[in-house]
Amino acid sequence: MAKQTNPFDWSGGHAALDLVNTLDERPSDAPIDNLATYANVVAFAELAGLISPSLARELRPLTGAINASTARRVRVLREQLYAVLVALHTNRPVPQSALGAITRDIHRAHAARSLVSTTESPTVTSCWTLPAAPEIPLHACALAVEELLLSTDHSQIRKCCAADCAVYFLDTSKAHRRQWCSMRNCGNREKQRRWRSA
Ligand SMILES: [Zn+2]
Repeated sequence: MAKQTNPFDWSGGHAALDLVNTLDERPSDAPIDNLATYANVVAFAELAGLISPSLARELRPLTGAINASTARRVRVLREQLYAVLVALHTNRPVPQSALGAITRDIHRAHAARSLVSTTESPTVTSCWTLPAAPEIPLHACALAVEELLLSTDHSQIRKCCAADCAVYFLDTSKAHRRQWCSMRNCGNREKQRRWRSA
């Protein structure tokens, strides 16, 4: 099988932020959707560490209406999270409609997991009830979104300071002064712009 390409932006520092950043060139009139197909969604979930490579190999060839629908639901989840991030970034109230939609996805994700006993420590763990269900990439994304919203310091969630870049990232730098999605892209570009206008 052909090796999956990796068009994704991994500067988010958290799988849920990397998910939001899968819509490339977001502020432009023609954003590029890196989750256009189910295979894209599977590739993202695998590379983000949300599903195992063996599960990805099983799911990637799947086509059909259910898979297209799962990919669409991942894109909707992504945009609901984006709405939350924009609200946080602009100090506006977080839209309850977005939180309600995310809640429903999180509920479904938890409903797809079961407790099982293991011979190792911890002796009880949770895993997917149907280990190769096509919705697992969606559920895994929903759990990553839950982790971001409930278990991270929201003051560390930042948008890239470049006006034409809508990449979000978790600023875990010691000084908490990270400004750019990446120094190589927006950081250098902005430095050159400031130098030219000085
Ligand atoms: Zn940027």
